[in-house]
Amino acid sequence: MSPLSKEIWRLIVLLGLASVIGFVISELLACLLIALAIYLGWHIYNIHRLAKWLNKPGKFHPPEGQGIWAEIFDRIYHLQKKNRNRKKKLAKYITRFKESTAAMPDATVVLNQYDQIEWVNKAAQDALGLQPSKDIGQHISNLMRHPRFLNYLNRRDYSTPLEMPSPVSEHQQLNVRIIPYGQNQRLLIARDVTRIKQLEQMRRDFVSNISHELRTPLTVIHGYLESMQDEVDGPLDEWRDNLDMMLRQSARMQNIVNDLLMLSRLENEELKPAAREEVPVPSLLHSLREEAQALGNEKRHTLKLECDPELGLFGVHNELYSVFSNLVFNAVRYTPDGGTITLRWYRDDRGAHFEVQDTGIGIPPQHLPRLTERFFRVDVGRSREIGGTGLGLAIVKHILERHQAKLRIKSQVNRGSTFICDFPAESIVTYPQQSVIKL
Ligand code: ADP
Repeated sequence: MSPLSKEIWRLIVLLGLASVIGFVISELLACLLIALAIYLGWHIYNIHRLAKWLNKPGKFHPPEGQGIWAEIFDRIYHLQKKNRNRKKKLAKYITRFKESTAAMPDATVVLNQYDQIEWVNKAAQDALGLQPSKDIGQHISNLMRHPRFLNYLNRRDYSTPLEMPSPVSEHQQLNVRIIPYGQNQRLLIARDVTRIKQLEQMRRDFVSNISHELRTPLTVIHGYLESMQDEVDGPLDEWRDNLDMMLRQSARMQNIVNDLLMLSRLENEELKPAAREEVPVPSLLHSLREEAQALGNEKRHTLKLECDPELGLFGVHNELYSVFSNLVFNAVRYTPDGGTITLRWYRDDRGAHFEVQDTGIGIPPQHLPRLTERFFRVDVGRSREIGGTGLGLAIVKHILERHQAKLRIKSQVNRGSTFICDFPAESIVTYPQQSVIKL
């Protein structure tokens, strides 16, 4: 029998007894009322005991009860027991999480939805100078005030990490990442990358120094070879072919050294806003087209230029020239005789775009992601033969990054390639058409 049915039976029996007594003493109504009052009183007493028990969180064992109340006390007791066990388990997990995060070598800070600090580990105290005793509850931007960090925090796009000096020491470089989780909470993780940065700098310095050291001897050798070549119609007749080859190779070495120097300069120098100027891209493309025509003269290419005459760019003139010329000269070099090369310069609602489309040899799809790596060539022999350094597209990528622009490449083997530079709308300069025509 269920506890409720039992309770109903109990009430029926009580009322039955009261009726019998009432009948015997001829006070039926009074006896029934007294029985009901006793029954109600018993319930009120048990409700009072329940409330008292629930109000005392420390008191674990339930009061003794009878009837339906024994059942109610027992069920609540079991629920409480289950909850306590669950809480204990949760507390154990939290302690374990805190212990493991505290032991992590990376600085870890838990931020709430208002960017206030909720928790920091030991590494965060050392690397970011945060003190749990006084910084918990503080807005993170009050304690990490580097402009680049504030920008990163407010941008709310955390797909790429940020590199910045530590708030504790200028010489310490941090790689900071914010990871959203839970309900608008965020985890800030900072890793010390000072050593990696130093090694990168050493590598850059090494390449830059070695290129500088090689430049002068190469210029001297090239100069001597050139003057020796003047003598091939005389005493150096037998050396004609060898000198030709030596000259070509020394010119190639000079090109490699110059490209390496350009790359190290791009890597080492931040682009200063003052270096930027209005670049009249249409006139630059017109002269580039002439140069490309001269370069591929014997290949009889058709060179087309479709250009918005009013569209200019805000950037560094010689760097942009380097990007455009690298792409155009590549198109000339990798397009066989009689092919067509089309240069396009236009704008749409996403920004300005420079496009070089050729009908050349194309690039197999598996090589496309690696094209901008240094010294990567699809066909090393062919690239060397036509005087390539393997550094052109690496330079293009670097310069475009400095101009907040991106390179896209589409290609089909034996059908041709299209290289597209996407410039942001903020870099666009528009000027009246007359000034372009004059140029
Ligand atoms: P390289 O000096 O060898 O041309 P780049 O960095 O300019 O070096 O280009 C890297 C490689 O990309 C080239 O060696 C070539 O294999 C490939 N490539 C670049 N442009 C084109 C193009 N327009 N058509 C086909 N292949 C190209």
